[in-house]
Amino acid sequence: MSQTAEIPMVPGSESPLELKHIKAVDPHAVYHRRAQRLLTLAKDSPLADYFELCRRVVSIQARLAKEADFGQLLSWGKEGAIPLSHLGSEVDSYWQGLLQQLLSDLLPQVDESVARVVRLLMQQSPEQLSTWGRALREGRMSDAPARFSLFLWAAMGLYWSHWAPMVIKRMDQRKLKQQSLCPICGSHPVASVIVDEPRAGLRYLHCSLCESEWHYIRAHCTSCGQDKEMTIWSLDDAQAQVRIESCDECHGYTKMMFIEKSPLMDVAADDLATLILDKELNAKGFGATTVNPLLLAHETE
Ligand SMILES: [Zn+2]
Ligand SMILES: [Zn+2]
Repeated sequence: MSQTAEIPMVPGSESPLELKHIKAVDPHAVYHRRAQRLLTLAKDSPLADYFELCRRVVSIQARLAKEADFGQLLSWGKEGAIPLSHLGSEVDSYWQGLLQQLLSDLLPQVDESVARVVRLLMQQSPEQLSTWGRALREGRMSDAPARFSLFLWAAMGLYWSHWAPMVIKRMDQRKLKQQSLCPICGSHPVASVIVDEPRAGLRYLHCSLCESEWHYIRAHCTSCGQDKEMTIWSLDDAQAQVRIESCDECHGYTKMMFIEKSPLMDVAADDLATLILDKELNAKGFGATTVNPLLLAHETE
């Protein structure tokens, strides 16, 4: 692991005039690409079994994103700064319906130890599921049992990612300020993606829940916002597709994925495949400021 040279930035490339502040994504396309990427990355991973479980979950998400009934979006904060962050309790029945569909699809595809967890989750009361769902969305990860988090988040992600594009279409993006959390649902990013359209080297943060992407200026800490003491890290190669930007001020870090170099990359799958970078940064005293939907097991059971 080495500190890489300065990444060249195109002069003037951060002018807010031409870029989109928020990009809506097609959830089916995101889940489909993620499932493909998990399949590819599993081949070289010591976590191949876990990649395969994630791939099955994400494949079901891809199908449900196209076919499921998402009802109507009844109460979203049209005037609020973050429209999908505080939805009423009526949304619980929708994402919990998606959860039951996801789990019944998954059940015949998993071994007995996972099947036990799936069956147990299927038996939980709506009130209990609502409480755990809210805890995860509010970042209190250890308030939900770690063995259920992957599935709970997958169902909520389906619901939130379905509505995010519609909300983005109706937002006045000019009012938005740069922010660390998703401007649509208030969740943490998974990582940054660096894109070359409409201009080279633009950075977007990719939401861990609703999958939207929002612009964030390069070389500014995505957690505390300071722009003086940032360090770029990568394994060996200064042109690596995955690099880490760490902040000397708040000691947080975010991964950057250079998807132009490798268009098949997916933020969640590639983050999972590069945990060795996290280990190195953790050993240097830095902590991730991001959330990976495939890696919510913060609690050991
Ligand atoms: Zn979001
Ligand atoms: Zn910082």
